[in-house]
Amino acid sequence: MKIRYFDHSATTAVDERVLDEMIPYFTKEYGNPSSLYSIGKSNKEIINIYRMKIANILNCKVNEIYFTSGGSESDNLILKGIAFANSNKGNHIITSKIEHPAVLNTCKYLEKFGFKVTYLSPNSEGFIDAEEVEKNITRNTILISIMFANNEIGTIQPIKEIGDIARKHRICFHTDAVQAIGNIDIDVKKYNIDALSMSGHKFYGPKGIGVAYIKESIPFMRMQDGGHQERDKRAGTENVAGIVGIGKALELATENIVEYNKHLKKLRDYYVSEIKEKVPYIKINGSMEKRLSGNSNISFTGVDGSRLLEELDQKGICASSGSACSSGLLNPSHVLLAIGVPNNLARSSLRITFGKDNDLEDTKYLVESIEEIVKKLRY
Ligand SMILES: *Cc1c(COP(=O)(O)O)cnc(C)c1O
Repeated sequence: MKIRYFDHSATTAVDERVLDEMIPYFTKEYGNPSSLYSIGKSNKEIINIYRMKIANILNCKVNEIYFTSGGSESDNLILKGIAFANSNKGNHIITSKIEHPAVLNTCKYLEKFGFKVTYLSPNSEGFIDAEEVEKNITRNTILISIMFANNEIGTIQPIKEIGDIARKHRICFHTDAVQAIGNIDIDVKKYNIDALSMSGHKFYGPKGIGVAYIKESIPFMRMQDGGHQERDKRAGTENVAGIVGIGKALELATENIVEYNKHLKKLRDYYVSEIKEKVPYIKINGSMEKRLSGNSNISFTGVDGSRLLEELDQKGICASSGSACSSGLLNPSHVLLAIGVPNNLARSSLRITFGKDNDLEDTKYLVESIEEIVKKLRY
């Protein structure tokens, strides 16, 4: 059976051009970058070339880029590293209720160490209000962390406004940009971003590699002790192939950003309008404005989300409910609940996220399949 993949917010396939660039670093160019012979030293240079490429794209300094194992580690390193290093200045953090668990659970962890965290609610469209951020700032606020774009409903937050507010109050501003990278051009200077997380596997790069951008002037504590890699801030032999992979993937995503967005938006808009026309009793979750081009999130009244996914899987369709599945039970998504979607509708949601390799034929098959399955499950 042909697999049709519509879960690009969960992960993406590595682009062949990325893989080709990575392969030599597994086999021929395997030297440890800390070694003093040429195949080691040349890898140190390679790392710095890719570090420079990434810094140029984000418009930051080369020594503000740290390689990590992915989005989760970058979020942990940034939040914990900045909170602990700045605890002499204050103990208050502002974030939102719709962050990824990598941010939410890190905040929960910090609360155990005496940090106070304000979790802002989004409005019913899925947006955090920049004015709310400002109103919640206290003398003790040391960090604001608001995601660039949401992984479940795709809403793009007012990052420029929040960045300006943070700068005005001299508070460090972090954004989890894991979903935004590759879809939105991000210039950290323009947006006043002090720290940012990204992950290779969300934009056609490999899994297990991420970047933490942390502005030079921001004090932070390393979270992983060991050798002197990453300027003493993140120990461990560098994932050279991964670094090459994330750098190449970011380069390709940046070059193709306009074309990919146009393609994704065309498929997403076609899908949403077809579902609206052909399937009754649905609810579109989150605003359709200021939303990632490839994201859709729709609730189907009276349909169990996990059954829907199983039936889609039998037709070779990979999709997501956007909710955490624990021990076979579908927990309603914290994001949908935060924007006021009722419990039963939150359990009936389907997240479809399009990618560069999807086409109109796949999308037509998707619409037909949903139409048929929803009828069957509602009967
Ligand atoms: C996927 C994702 C992460 C986690 O990234 P990993 O590389 O899988 O650890 C963090 N934040 C957001 C918004 C994500 O979508």
